Amino acid sequence: MASIFSQIIDGDIPARVVHEDETAFAFLDANPLAPGHTLVIPREEYERLNDVPEDVAADLYATIHELIPAVEEAVDAPATTVAFNNGEAAGQEVPHVHCHIVPRFEGDGGGP
Ligand code: 5GP
Repeated sequence: MASIFSQIIDGDIPARVVHEDETAFAFLDANPLAPGHTLVIPREEYERLNDVPEDVAADLYATIHELIPAVEEAVDAPATTVAFNNGEAAGQEVPHVHCHIVPRFEGDGGGP
């Protein structure tokens, strides 16, 4: 069974897609911690960060690098928390590697 995120990539589950390329895919989180909360994932399903091959990780990072200022600008946020929950005990609920880009505002007190 494909992960929820693979089903989003395949268009079987609707999502607000903000970026897609050969390696990476990004969409808005359905339960945002802040407006503009974005998830960036590799198209291929890898459960943990260390499962991701280096070339895919490099492409994924390039997309994250590009999206951080775009997300900040979109919601006029002065900062972002950028995080991976890596493993169930760390709060990873979806077993498909994903990077959270969460817009942060002065005194908001909340990240992932
Ligand atoms: P985790 O806790 O695994 O680091 O984060 C998983 C994230 O995926 C959560 O923030 C959750 O809101 C988001 N999420 C789970 N299911 C869906 C979905 O079907 N669509 C979208 N857009 N986000 C989802």
